[in-house]
Amino acid sequence: MNDLKDLKGKLCVITGGGGVIGSSLAHGLAGAGIRTVILDIVEDAARKVAASVKEETGVESYGLKANVLDRESLEEVRKKINGEISEIDFLINGAGGNSPQATTKMEELTENDLGDLENSFFGLELEGFQKVFDLNFMGTLLPTMVLSRKMVERQKGVILNISSMNAYKPLTKIPAYSAAKASVNNFTEWLAVHFAKAGVRVNAIAPGFFLTNQNRFLLVDEASGDLTDRGKKIINNTPMGTFGEPGDITGTALYLLSDMSHFITGICIPVDGGYSAFGGV
Ligand code: NAD
Repeated sequence: MNDLKDLKGKLCVITGGGGVIGSSLAHGLAGAGIRTVILDIVEDAARKVAASVKEETGVESYGLKANVLDRESLEEVRKKINGEISEIDFLINGAGGNSPQATTKMEELTENDLGDLENSFFGLELEGFQKVFDLNFMGTLLPTMVLSRKMVERQKGVILNISSMNAYKPLTKIPAYSAAKASVNNFTEWLAVHFAKAGVRVNAIAPGFFLTNQNRFLLVDEASGDLTDRGKKIINNTPMGTFGEPGDITGTALYLLSDMSHFITGICIPVDGGYSAFGGV
């Protein structure tokens, strides 16, 4: 197998598909003839992405509301998809993100900051921490549990988790997001082994840095539109010298979904302009 023809007509569910990366993936997958179901907690976003995929590519796409943290909501869409559309061939776990509530104000704590501990690790709101951890980790585990059962019964399917650079080395300020994405990589390996003889492959993609809604508040100064110091640091640590474009992920996703990668399971591919390869000097 050395082309992507096996992908035509397959059905892929994309969670968080109303977002920047999910919607770009939906368009890219449609280019290879893959039909998509866009799931998002924001129904309008899911519908809009599906409508634009259909209009621009002519390939079927459906937008449905689903909360990746609510089993009932996932069961409901599973029944709808199986009853009204078809069996699911692929699942992309794309829902995720960070939040200011789970972000420390300080990057690191020095002896000069002892009067200001609330801006450090000690000021993190547990509730915010839990929300971000759950969205990224439980929000990957739960849809997988609900939507991959039939894949295993049919002995075929591919699961693709969207991880992050934080899975390898945590960035400062965002411990919940980092811990959750590290867990996503660990879980990818665990499930890949668990499903290896059941005909279902499980892999991940770790995008480098893309300017999207979840990180704009950290990387771009709202008033001036200039890069923040953190944004500049990221660019300086990305050997290719730019943020990624969401479409940069498409090729890797198509490869991991297709039979071209049929002997590959349990890996995470960075799509990062060299960020994870760079030692900083
Ligand atoms: P985004 O905010 O544009 O998209 C995320 C989508 O998830 C949104 O449409 C949101 O409504 C949806 N969502 C949130 N909570 C949900 C829930 N409970 N149930 C269902 N849907 C929910 O962000 P993005 O940048 O497109 O991120 C997509 C994935 O890529 C995330 O997992 C993110 O962590 C990962 N990622 C992004 C970057 C980046 O630089 N943008 C880098 C690495 C990894």
